[in-house]
Amino acid sequence: MSPKPRADFADFSEEETQRYSRNALLAEVGWEGQARWRAGKVLVVGAGGLGSAALLYLAAAGVGRLGVVDGDAVELSNLQRQILHRSAGVGRRKAASAAASLTALNPHCRVATFDLRLAPDNVRDVVQGFEVVLDASDNFPTRFLLAECCWRQGLPLVSAAATGWHGQLLVAAPGPANPCYRCLVPETPPAAAVPASTAAGILGAVAGALGCLQAVEALKLLLGRDSDLTRRLLAYDGLQGRFQSVDRVKRPDCPLCGP
Ligand SMILES: [Zn+2]
Repeated sequence: MSPKPRADFADFSEEETQRYSRNALLAEVGWEGQARWRAGKVLVVGAGGLGSAALLYLAAAGVGRLGVVDGDAVELSNLQRQILHRSAGVGRRKAASAAASLTALNPHCRVATFDLRLAPDNVRDVVQGFEVVLDASDNFPTRFLLAECCWRQGLPLVSAAATGWHGQLLVAAPGPANPCYRCLVPETPPAAAVPASTAAGILGAVAGALGCLQAVEALKLLLGRDSDLTRRLLAYDGLQGRFQSVDRVKRPDCPLCGP
């Protein structure tokens, strides 16, 4: 191996130096930021439309440790949006299919798979050891469970949802001044266990756009950077081609982060 050009590069191989060169050129990242990403541990709940995009970009960026939670198998009707999975993988477990795609993209990335549905008796064990959690799930019971667990464990949660042509995104960063997920959605909506895509359809690229934004927020969190989305909700209307963001307020009577 040839001598490294600068002390900053000392920990990175020649191969990694080339692979991540465009990351390191970003002033806010550099090789110090790249080292943070390599040491980073991000859990993604759901290897579907949101999670596919988020996971691929996190692995590509060089996040060293990814966790994938999904208790389903790949179905043909998933493939119009769940770009982690391939036609030949129909019938395969999604968590395993995701891990294979991610390590093929970046062999430096270690992937832990959780082939299960999150439940009150396993959620704490699953999030254990991760620094940032992405909610890329498709149902409210999982969203509420994850939001509560992450808030209580002090873990930042990047939550996204997409249906039809629309998506939304927020960051719930535990702290006395910050609103949590349930400040926005206090109670589970009725009939919320049905995945939205099953009932209403979804454009794959819209889910992908939101998943990409989740990856951006997770990468910033690993760099220790704050984001407006800690206190705002970002909404995307793919049909109109419009982004909007609105303030989120901390609810004094919030069932999760209130007194
Ligand atoms: Zn709250």
